[in-house]
Amino acid sequence: MAVLEEPIKEVLLLKNFIGGEWVESEGEVLDVINPATQKTLAHVPMSTRDEVNAAVAAANAAFPEWRRTTPLARVRCLFRLKELLEGHFDELSRIQTQEHGKTIDESRGETRRGIEMVEVATGIPSLMMGYNLEDIASGIDEYVIYQPLGIFCHIAPFNFPFMVPLWFVPFALAAGNTFVVKPSPRDPISQVKLAELIEEAGIPPGVYNLVHGGNEVSLNLLEHPDIKGVTFVGSTPVGRDIVYKKCGETGKRVIAQCGAKNFMVVMPDCDVAGTIAALLTSFFGNTGQRCLSGANLIIVGKEDAFYHNFLGIFVAAASKIRVGYGLDESIQMGPMQSASGKERVTGYIECGIKEGAKLILDGRKPKIIGDYPDTAFLNPTIFEGVTPEMTICREEIFGPVAGVIRAKDLDEAIEICNASKYGNGDAIFTSSGKSAREFQYRVESGNIGVNIGVVAPMAFFPFSGMKDSFFGVLHGQGRDAIRFFTEGKVVVQRWF
Ligand code: NAD
Repeated sequence: MAVLEEPIKEVLLLKNFIGGEWVESEGEVLDVINPATQKTLAHVPMSTRDEVNAAVAAANAAFPEWRRTTPLARVRCLFRLKELLEGHFDELSRIQTQEHGKTIDESRGETRRGIEMVEVATGIPSLMMGYNLEDIASGIDEYVIYQPLGIFCHIAPFNFPFMVPLWFVPFALAAGNTFVVKPSPRDPISQVKLAELIEEAGIPPGVYNLVHGGNEVSLNLLEHPDIKGVTFVGSTPVGRDIVYKKCGETGKRVIAQCGAKNFMVVMPDCDVAGTIAALLTSFFGNTGQRCLSGANLIIVGKEDAFYHNFLGIFVAAASKIRVGYGLDESIQMGPMQSASGKERVTGYIECGIKEGAKLILDGRKPKIIGDYPDTAFLNPTIFEGVTPEMTICREEIFGPVAGVIRAKDLDEAIEICNASKYGNGDAIFTSSGKSAREFQYRVESGNIGVNIGVVAPMAFFPFSGMKDSFFGVLHGQGRDAIRFFTEGKVVVQRWF
């Protein structure tokens, strides 16, 4: 099939969006590379402390008027944004594939999910309502009102460059807050496009700001005294040891959605065809670079025949996945987002071999459809005979690698899941309601799938997480996000 047109045709110099102006940074620049073609797409600046301060000052200046703007007027901006996003749906999706490497279908899914966040946030006039009770004592009424707090920021990961900031920005803005986004420097271009559309939607200058950069910019945001709360999505060491800790020290609210190692539990009574299809997407979709990707596959039961038959079908199907440039619509798996990501994954594959797991599908010498350098490409990889102590079972690999474990029964499978330090998105495949209920009741994971391999909550539900996968109290999306981005005040009232 033909390769779709690349939307980025010449090397861009990315600017910050501060106080409604596009401003060139004085910081040094890094290259943004298309991982499939290895061509440079853009230069992204590492913004200076002064530039971060300017973005926070712009957000601060915009807050008083934005919070006094009526909720209906605020959501009218979001309705306009939604229309603009729909109008640019195709371009936004192709940009994500070009800068990240995921397939065009995965990018379309990401764009759709991002737009859904905007749609749900337009419900703010109802979602932000408080509550009241008359006569809590004679002639006295009491009520709760929810108010915006001020400036929030988001520090974004590379794996869903367009969607993840939208887990937060529309809810924060709809509630009357102002915002600063720091995209991942590895694929910041779809955020630039989003900022252009936010500007076009008529969201007033300073309400939304974009500052490019890496670790330094994150730290400047985390330490800034005017920022009321931080939303972070990324790895556990950064989320737990830097973001969560700094927010504690500086008294900021925090949502830190972190790393994962998800278990897919297959019971002998599952629907085999449906389960295999779901597992292929779970393990190899987004090239395994998804916090909800399957990482370990637990096949339950003492019967050898079921185990060998199921595993045989899974391996055969995985080996047929078409790997190449995601702008080719026939491609089913793109490259890793970076050469360093590929290096990390191959390091884990070598570690798995050393620790005694059996490599039954080796993706290290990738077959690639089309004429592309193999710099960031891998093929699906599967290990058999993985045990819970092995590094490849415990640590997040974040690539297209499945580790297969055998468990004699559901109890043992749940024990293996719960021994993990992570608790992000585990799933069971079964036709038994009893097994499904037992699993959801006992498994220590924030998002649980029953016959679903990628447990992504919709925009009107929170994106949960437990243990080392989440730090904070309230989560992104839905009602949790509204509570996170507002402060409840209690008013007790008597008239003489
Ligand atoms: P990362 O932690 O390396 O980077 C995330 C963000 O933090 C980036 O913007 C980066 O510039 C910044 N950062 C990195 N190191 C920093 C440091 N030392 N100090 C300050 N800032 C720093 O994560 P990533 O590689 O971009 O993303 C992949 C990770 O994100 C995976 O672990 C994945 O599981 C996780 N993730 C989690 C969820 C979730 O909802 N739980 C969703 C998506 C991704």
